[in-house]
Amino acid sequence: MKVLVVDDSAVMRKILVKALNEGGHTEIVEAGNGQEALERSGDVDIIFTDWNMPVMDGLTFVKEFRKSSKIPIVMVTTEGGQKEVLEAMKSGVNDYVVKPFKPTVVLGKIESLIKK
Ligand SMILES: [Mg+2]
Repeated sequence: MKVLVVDDSAVMRKILVKALNEGGHTEIVEAGNGQEALERSGDVDIIFTDWNMPVMDGLTFVKEFRKSSKIPIVMVTTEGGQKEVLEAMKSGVNDYVVKPFKPTVVLGKIESLIKK
């Protein structure tokens, strides 16, 4: 199973990749913004994306990506605000993780979304 990790922070991507590795997920593609994510999302099975990024933010990416794919998308955000989460869900996000997160939370999202 291939996972796409989208975040403009290299440190945050590293933290996410480490969490995924702990769960045995080693096929990982990284992108630094929504534009890169669109280019690299071809054959991935699930996406974890940041919200605030330069070039193309996470919400715009989700809206674009949803025009052609139904694979699970998890929004990883610092804002746990209900309004933001609702907006993301309406745009096609399946679930969300609030930063900072424990590896088990990230892995749990994969479990629940892939099994569905
Ligand atoms: Mg960011």
